[in-house]
Amino acid sequence: MIEMQGVQMVYPNGVSALNGIDVSISQGEFVYVVGPSGAGKSTFVSLIYREEKPTDGSIIINGVHLRKLKERKIPYLRRDIGVVYQDFKLLPRLTVYENLAFALEVIEENPKNIKKRVMDVLDLVKLKHKARQIPDELSGGEQQRVSIARAIINNPKIVIADEPTGNLDPETSWEIMQIFEEINNRGTTVIMATHSRDIVNAIRKRVIAFEDGTIVRDEDRGEYGYEI
Ligand code: ADP
Ligand code: ADP
Repeated sequence: MIEMQGVQMVYPNGVSALNGIDVSISQGEFVYVVGPSGAGKSTFVSLIYREEKPTDGSIIINGVHLRKLKERKIPYLRRDIGVVYQDFKLLPRLTVYENLAFALEVIEENPKNIKKRVMDVLDLVKLKHKARQIPDELSGGEQQRVSIARAIINNPKIVIADEPTGNLDPETSWEIMQIFEEINNRGTTVIMATHSRDIVNAIRKRVIAFEDGTIVRDEDRGEYGYEI
């Protein structure tokens, strides 16, 4: 469902972030993307939801060739992909409920369905009781749970997470990982860039390791494998 062949990414400033990436990820997989800073992890995941366009190579997501995808069709691709960021990116002036409802309003979900969908995902991340709070009134872990709820509210086939536990303490990080495992158990593909050696080594999944813009290791139930 995610196929990359010969993917190269050279940024306009001339930095070559990816050189010749070939990878295939099936529906329902859980994949960690690891490697030192600057190895190309963020670039790799941003190509999947078409935040960036590769300078060469082919990318197919859910049967769609991204090269042929018209700009106006990008929102349809993104409906099938939820994204979770390290810094949450919640809207600060909206309540938890409104942050989630807004994510459905922008994709023109039938207003009749919005309340149930929001309450369902809040239940999944165990935050129903915080629906009326604003993000600043929540802990970092709670804010990340809201951002996960937002990412899955549309039942996407793929969830991409770029260092989702990077700003969280270890205990909170484990709680967040449980939510990602639950999402994955429901059949959603999870692709997670992470620097957390402890998590990768404890919750064994496929590991794709990047160095200097290439894949240097791709193992099922792999290890983190770096001394950093
Ligand atoms: P990682 O996520 O592994 O830290 P990145 O994909 O962010 O790696 O970066 C890979 C390389 O591309 C680095 O050399 C980085 O400086 C460069 N890079 C990342 N984003 C941009 C950008 N928007 N413009 C120019 N260079 C970038
Ligand atoms: P329902 O009671 O609506 O059948 P569930 O209890 O299975 O739903 O899930 C509650 C909410 O969790 C759903 O409304 C949906 O937004 C979200 N959800 C369900 N399945 C998945 C999935 N595979 N991946 C991500 N989120 C999901």
